[in-house]
Amino acid sequence: MASSHTVTLIEGDGIGPEVVGATRTIIEATGVKITWEMCEAGAEVFKKGLSTGVPQETIDAIIRNKVALKGPLETPVGFGEKSANVTLRKLFDTYGNIRPIQEMPGVPTPYTGRNIDLVIVRENVEDLYAGIEHMQTPGTAQCLKLISRKGCEKITRLAFEFARAEGRKAVQCATKANIMKLTEGLMKRTFEEVAKDYPDIHSSHIIVDNCAHQMVKQPEQFDVIVTTNMNGDILSDLGSALIGGLGFAPGANMGDNFAIFEAVHGSAPKYAGQNTINPTAVLLSGVMMLRHLQEFEAADHIEQALFRTLAVDKILTRDAGGTASTRQFTDAIVRNLGKEFPGYQKRAYKPLKLPNVSNAPDFVKPRTRSVCGIDVFIESSSSPTDLGTSLETAIAGTSFTLKGISCRGVKVYPASPLAPDPTDLFRCRFMGNSSDVGDAQISALLDRLKPHHRWTHLEKLHIFDGVPAFSKDHGED
Ligand code: NAD
Repeated sequence: MASSHTVTLIEGDGIGPEVVGATRTIIEATGVKITWEMCEAGAEVFKKGLSTGVPQETIDAIIRNKVALKGPLETPVGFGEKSANVTLRKLFDTYGNIRPIQEMPGVPTPYTGRNIDLVIVRENVEDLYAGIEHMQTPGTAQCLKLISRKGCEKITRLAFEFARAEGRKAVQCATKANIMKLTEGLMKRTFEEVAKDYPDIHSSHIIVDNCAHQMVKQPEQFDVIVTTNMNGDILSDLGSALIGGLGFAPGANMGDNFAIFEAVHGSAPKYAGQNTINPTAVLLSGVMMLRHLQEFEAADHIEQALFRTLAVDKILTRDAGGTASTRQFTDAIVRNLGKEFPGYQKRAYKPLKLPNVSNAPDFVKPRTRSVCGIDVFIESSSSPTDLGTSLETAIAGTSFTLKGISCRGVKVYPASPLAPDPTDLFRCRFMGNSSDVGDAQISALLDRLKPHHRWTHLEKLHIFDGVPAFSKDHGED
């Protein structure tokens, strides 16, 4: 393709300018026409007093150009609370984080010769990483794991579309649905539904802990793995260690309208400015960017030149056991551009078709809904039995009955012979006597509790389409 592109380029912190500089040199040497719009983000911006670490000019440039290549950004301690990386991902709603893990020819690892070639598609904006945390009591912290049907549909469709774009054959969904049946289970169920629209791709589910085990034992069995945010974070770092380390792990943050390409690694400040680090991870992120820009030939040329440099010329940076400087490594790749790498397996790349998932807020509409009760979280230093007795007395004559009390998900009232070690936070489950509990009844219940107990949090117990939409405690009937 001969058209020209404008790309926002963020050099980043620490080793960022070196790895991004090397990548730019190599991409330009392919002859692809790119105008780079240099923008700032990260440590220097925090130091100037901007608490997001991302200036408005950078945001405007990405809005204009829609594509960015960025180096790693440091989150300096003492300036701004949020990571500028996370801010960028969230601002541009790049909900899909695509992380390829591919054996690098010529880079010795315990897996050499086994042809690892898998891709992790990680949900990038929700789950525990939404960062919604509270201390419910002075002694108990809570982090909300919010998983949406829409989020699951977008990421699973993206995984299947990505598989099609790369000519891949299988997508596996890795979840902890066996334990977290509603949150991780929603991902599994959505995946299984979405899979029906992709009969050309083999689909299956794997429990995430087994996935980690299998990735170490037999990583060559995997093709595309789609997973929730935290699972994906852990699996992808595990994956980078299989192929020689963070210096070889690229990534792409994909959204409906924007794409931000960056390595998995950070700013490695102790190596900054030493001309020793490995630019491959950012270079391969640049290769992903070129494919996104439909510059397939240039992308293939860079990959082949990189493989030749590593495996034929045996020029390696220090992290891969070699002695080449960043500059020598970069120059070698440039020299190798246009040369073929023996045995290079060219994929039948096609443009990635981004999924078109409805943005309507009532994306999921139940036919029927009701509230059958309420969970009230209460801070208490009483024994579970004393708390239970006190609650029974307090609610006498209301339209609720106390079903039970649990602590950290285990039933503690009515008491069982194996009394678990209680903490300061109890979940007290009240079931309504009517078929649909109203807010006025809930307020009246709280009014009864308030004089005796400190409540910290409420959850309505919904029934959607006749199915209870809440979990039971361990030990609850
Ligand atoms: P890091 O990834 O920067 O470095 C960890 C180690 O990995 C390094 O000490 C080095 O041994 C190795 N390494 C990383 N990249 C390498 C490369 N290109 N070549 C050779 N070796 C490489 O992780 P860290 O030290 O935990 O984090 C440093 C800073 O980076 C922190 O401020 C952190 O917040 C930030 N960070 C940013 C991003 C991002 O921008 N996406 C990601 C992770 C960490």
